[in-house]
Amino acid sequence: MIRHHPDIAWLTDYAAGTLPEAHAVAVQAHLHFCRDCRAQVRRLEKLGSQLLEQSVDGGNTEALLEQTLACLDKVPAAPQQATAPAKTGWDFKVPTGLSRLLPDAPEQLSWKALGRSLKISRLVAGSDKHEVALHHIRAGGKVARHDHGGNELTVVLKGSFSDQLGQYEAGDFIIRDKGEAHSPNAAEHEDCLCLTVVDAPVRFTHPLLRIFNPMLKIHPA
Ligand SMILES: [Zn+2]
Repeated sequence: MIRHHPDIAWLTDYAAGTLPEAHAVAVQAHLHFCRDCRAQVRRLEKLGSQLLEQSVDGGNTEALLEQTLACLDKVPAAPQQATAPAKTGWDFKVPTGLSRLLPDAPEQLSWKALGRSLKISRLVAGSDKHEVALHHIRAGGKVARHDHGGNELTVVLKGSFSDQLGQYEAGDFIIRDKGEAHSPNAAEHEDCLCLTVVDAPVRFTHPLLRIFNPMLKIHPA
């Protein structure tokens, strides 16, 4: 069950097409799993087109804004079908926006091991500010405690993990703000695969691992 969603500001920026591409891929990955947020985005897109028409016609945008605020609280509209899987070599349904960043199978990516539990594959997302990557944590694996030099977006694609702040399953959209520390731990029974978007390197908090921090960089691509 999905418990963590992008807030309304994220969804509005997504619907308006104003999110950076790397963030849009992450929001779209969440929408792939979440019918409620898909319905919300459709309402926002409809609102955007109404607003555009009104402004072209010289209409009353304040009245339209009021109507819109009222409609945002309504029950979600009937959901659209989830997007079809585009990549068959993966053992989960790949979200459409992510699909264009992935090869046909995970073996075709270059993976870098960071310890025994975590491996990372950086993706080319056309971003000069954000590193977009897949993080794979083996079943039962624990990632060393770290905090963040900037914001970190994570969308769980497969499996689940937990940290000090909660438990996260496929579709959950998680934001860790600058300075927040955690040590993710994959569930015992299944490997966990996540999409991550960061704008600054993580920083290890373990006294011995801190020696590596000056060497950690992000790789926007
Ligand atoms: Zn959602």
